[in-house]
Formats: sequence, structure tokens, C-alpha cells
Amino acid sequence: MESPEQRREALSDLSREAHACVRCALAKTRTTVVFGSGDPDAELMFIGEAPGKREDEAGTPFIGAAGKLLDKLLGEIGMQRSDVFVANVLKCRPPDNRDPRPSEIEECSSYLHSQISLIAPRLICTLGNFSTKLLRADPTGITELHGSPEVVLLGGHSVRLYPVFHPAAALYKPSAVEVMRADFARIPALLKLPLPDPQEEELKAPSPAVEVKLIEEPGGQIGMF
Ligand code: SF4
Repeated sequence: MESPEQRREALSDLSREAHACVRCALAKTRTTVVFGSGDPDAELMFIGEAPGKREDEAGTPFIGAAGKLLDKLLGEIGMQRSDVFVANVLKCRPPDNRDPRPSEIEECSSYLHSQISLIAPRLICTLGNFSTKLLRADPTGITELHGSPEVVLLGGHSVRLYPVFHPAAALYKPSAVEVMRADFARIPALLKLPLPDPQEEELKAPSPAVEVKLIEEPGGQIGMF
């Protein structure tokens, strides 16, 4: 078991590695790498899709209008950005904000998996479809899954996955903001819930795509990673 200092140092090393990364073609079009930011010891992690224009210029995730909505919803539950860690599936901006390509996700996902493993949050809010589908290794969409927590085993740690809408998708839809607000309202209680000891859970078949194992949530749902 690494100490908190060792984990923080490993996260800094990982950030340095990502900043020099040329594994996929996005290295040619990005302005800067957006590794992620926040508390390296956070209990709550948010995972979005990919940096947008402003994030690409600044190197910080969620700083535009969507980021402001994220901050507002966090504030309403008594939290701020510095209490959490925010990252994206892709660390570099796809040109013209197009959807991430499967090959880019495949090349980049090891950074995300390492971030999750090092930060070891208790709760991960996947923001929108891309991160939800990737971390669940399942094509079920966010409309069906938002607000439904499930326990997954990830990098040897139990973590509760909690899909919510992507704030960018909710920006111009007041009804979607209300759905997000209701989903966010459950976060403080979810952070207090105990997590099962992975050693005591029966692990089911891992996904061939990513390191996914299944464990059963007390509420009846099955989680994957
Ligand atoms: S998107 Fe990820 S894999 Fe591609 S260059 Fe950026 S950091 Fe590397």
C-alpha cells in the first residue's frame, strides 16, 4: 500500500507523462494537455468526455459555461471544486469538439484508469455518455442510468459509480438542470455509504475491453469495471 505522499507523487509523474504524450493524433492538434485537476486525495471524482476549446487553451478541465454549472451544483451541496478531482476520458481536445474516436479512447484510457487507481475515490460521477459507457464497459446510455449508483471494483478498490448528465448537455435545458440538481442532491449521502471490502466479494468475469470486474450492490444492481 502506497502512502498518500507516494500516491501524490505518482499522480504528478503521470501528469508529466501525459503532458508529453503523442500516443494518438490529437497530440498534433491540441494546444495543451488537460490532465485533470483538484484534490489528489478526493473522495469524489467527476469524469467528463474531453476538453473543449477553453480547456484546451488553459489546460484546466471544465472552466467554461459547463464548468460554471458544475461549480454551481457542487456549491448547492456544500462542496467546491477544490474538494473534488475533475478529469476527462480524453486528455486532449478533439478538433471542432467532435466525438472522441474509439482508437483515441483506447490509447488514452490508461491515464484515466491510473488516475482513478491513484486517487482511489469513494464515489465517481461519470458526466454523460462517454465516461459512463467506458467505465461500465456497457453501451447503456446516460438517460437510462443517471441517478443510479452501483458499486464497482476498480484497480483493486471498491468505488461507487454514479452517472449524471454532462453539464454541457444540460446548459440550455432547464428541465435537465433540475434532473442534475436532484441527482447531485444524493451525492453527500452516497459519500457516507460504506463500500464493500473487495477481498470479501465474489468477483465475476472481467470485460475483455478494460479491467472490469462485477460485484453486486446491496440495492440489487450489478457494477462493472
Ligand atoms: S488524447 Fe490521450 S493518448 Fe491522445 S495524445 Fe492526448 S494524452 Fe495522449
